[in-house]
Amino acid sequence: MYDFKKVERKWMDRYEKSDYFSVNLDKSNKPFYNLMMFPYPSASGLHIGNMYSFIGADVYGRYMKLQGYDVYEPIGFDAFGIHSENYALKVGKNPFELTPESIKYFRDEQLKKIGNIFDWSSEVITSSQDYYKWTQWIFVKLFKAGLAEKRNSTVNWCPSCKTVLADEQVIDGKCERCDTEIQKKEMSQWFFKITKYADRLLDNLEKLDWTEVTKNIQKSWIGRSEGATVFFQVKNKDIEIETFTTRPDTVYGVTYLVLAPEYKYTRELIVQDKKEEFKTFIDRVKKMDEAERTSITRSKNGMFTGSYAIHPLTGKKLPIWIGDYVLADYGTGAVMAVPAHDERDYDFAKKYGLEIKQVIDCDKDDLPYIEKGIMINSEEYSGWKSEDFIEKIDKVSYCMRKTVNYHLHDWCVSRQRYWGPPIPIVYCDNCGIVPVPEKDLPVKLPQTDDFVPDGSGLAPLARNKDFVETICPKCGKPAKRETDVSDNFLDSAWYFLRYVSPGDSEKPFDSNRVKKWLPVDMYIGGNEHANLHLMYSRFITMALHDLGYLPFEEPFRSFRGHGLIIKDGQKMSKSKGNTVNPNDYFDTHGVDALRTYLMFMGNFLEGGDFRDSGMDATKRFINRVWDVSNMPEGESSTELKIKMAETVDKVRYSIENIKYNTAVAAIMEFINEAMKEKCIERKIILDLARLLSPFAPFISEEIHETKGGKGTILDSGFPKGYEKYKEIATIVVPVQINGKMRGKVEVNKDAGQKEILEKAQEDKNLARYIEGKDVKKVIYIKDKIMNIIVK
Ligand SMILES: [Zn+2]
Ligand SMILES: [Zn+2]
Repeated sequence: MYDFKKVERKWMDRYEKSDYFSVNLDKSNKPFYNLMMFPYPSASGLHIGNMYSFIGADVYGRYMKLQGYDVYEPIGFDAFGIHSENYALKVGKNPFELTPESIKYFRDEQLKKIGNIFDWSSEVITSSQDYYKWTQWIFVKLFKAGLAEKRNSTVNWCPSCKTVLADEQVIDGKCERCDTEIQKKEMSQWFFKITKYADRLLDNLEKLDWTEVTKNIQKSWIGRSEGATVFFQVKNKDIEIETFTTRPDTVYGVTYLVLAPEYKYTRELIVQDKKEEFKTFIDRVKKMDEAERTSITRSKNGMFTGSYAIHPLTGKKLPIWIGDYVLADYGTGAVMAVPAHDERDYDFAKKYGLEIKQVIDCDKDDLPYIEKGIMINSEEYSGWKSEDFIEKIDKVSYCMRKTVNYHLHDWCVSRQRYWGPPIPIVYCDNCGIVPVPEKDLPVKLPQTDDFVPDGSGLAPLARNKDFVETICPKCGKPAKRETDVSDNFLDSAWYFLRYVSPGDSEKPFDSNRVKKWLPVDMYIGGNEHANLHLMYSRFITMALHDLGYLPFEEPFRSFRGHGLIIKDGQKMSKSKGNTVNPNDYFDTHGVDALRTYLMFMGNFLEGGDFRDSGMDATKRFINRVWDVSNMPEGESSTELKIKMAETVDKVRYSIENIKYNTAVAAIMEFINEAMKEKCIERKIILDLARLLSPFAPFISEEIHETKGGKGTILDSGFPKGYEKYKEIATIVVPVQINGKMRGKVEVNKDAGQKEILEKAQEDKNLARYIEGKDVKKVIYIKDKIMNIIVK
């Protein structure tokens, strides 16, 4: 019986003591950078979803190492941030004490046990001073380049986390991490101008070898739309209202304007006797989250301000309304309403009895008609095509101009929390906003027990006098420090750069190593980070590129977003009590069985359903592998060698295409065949272990060593030498059509009638006799000849 506990313990120790997987970053000849998303140490440990991700990434790294690459697979800890801080608050400890404890558990009890080829010599911890010094350095660089700016803005406020959040961290109107409904607050915050890079972030996607799903999430988050800005003058007031529309061809159909309740001029536009009504209205709106406000199905509410705007082309009076479905921070916060040709405007106009003016030719019953077409009721432009008008927009009126709009907003990076890098800025009455000089970095996060956020909108550090009061680096007069810390996503936006120079106190990363190892060759992780971490990392990389620090502008050459795991057909959640703790299986089934099962239970890119019965079955499979490796040595049958030739091909193809489940299935099939034999060749056993080693490393290493191998099995190379069996494995079948010899096809020798017919239909010689005809009958004499009767 295979003693998995003993073998796995032995190899974990061996991995720990050996330098099998530490890479010489300066001298590598065939560098391959294999990255996975480093974890944040919080709660009680890594959950099965993390393991799934890490193991899936490691399978790829191990495979590339078998292929002879110097695979660099670093790991570290995303140790700053709300996740870690909230865990500290929950258990009543200081994050300064708790974080090292959590990291120790993650590292020693979990990550070192899962068989990954981590290079522990390059561990990076974002909360260590030698790391966040450089996070602050990046902030200063961005500030100096005009890419960081403090400004007043309506921001997302999480009342539970007591901090602001970036747009990307608000999911369906709720806080990304605690699910609390977000409130909108007007606050002065630090922003990174990621919108300056919107076009590049979008255009570069074309060139990237990323999973399409991930690219599409980014595309729609950037949300580029072309259209026009149209300006409306307010009647009897010196106010101009700017609107954005993707359909400037419907401008003659504008019958009213709608503003967001928070729009900058709203208060000035509300006439005296509407002020009470407005107060009630805005109180109600404040209780709604963004998802509710923009919901398509909900009935929209509005009120008339009492003010009018002037239509820039017709001079007509247009009532100005306020609507709860318009958001201040999307577009311009003001909408030119064209009820005849927009569904929301139509519903709104119907509800409040506003004028509906048709300006695109269609049947009246089809309103709201949202397609482009021929313009009508549009003065001299009646009869024009929508497209022609849109093309000429800049010449129509000075009140209209072509504009590109984006859904992407600047990245709000201020956090009113404690556990993060202090934003390296000083406020001086004389000099204004002054960045901390690079030589004075890091601005150290003071260790204190007074770190609980109080919800005042000020960060805990604001209560720390010793921290706040400082000297202006420019003029030497008393000044005050910024007390917000930066967003945790800034820490993780550059960690892959630090991995090539861990511990370097002179610079954030070494340029020669950057040239050698980056961009990252393969990055595997969850798609939930598509518009967060993956977008921010691309932006920071582009900015550092523009500042001359990086020779490339895209950090990740290839990215594969994997699916999620469910348990017994249901979503895993703590409340349902159906979460899976990976450590539970280390002792009962073994790490090899867990790894192999995770990769086998479904298509890795789509996710899978974790079942204990599957774990049991995989454990039995591992035992069978052991049994096969212990069969008497002796010559294997030709059939088994042919099977091995096929298995080698299938595993190669499947891993390269991240179809891990079919690779495991192929190995299982091979084991079944091997068990039918009386003896087995040593080469076959070794090659079997090599094929299995990305999935079940420990048993593979053990087999390799038992059969005389030295070091790690990954250095012994991917199986080869089966070419001649591939030839044996195929046969040539002559093909007759309607009794006449017309050609031949080469197929696998096990191929049935169906596959041979398909091959014949694909063959260009034969196809011309078959195409466009009905196949009436097929006669196949096994291994001899096929006759196809067509009519
Ligand atoms: Zn929250
Ligand atoms: Zn000063």
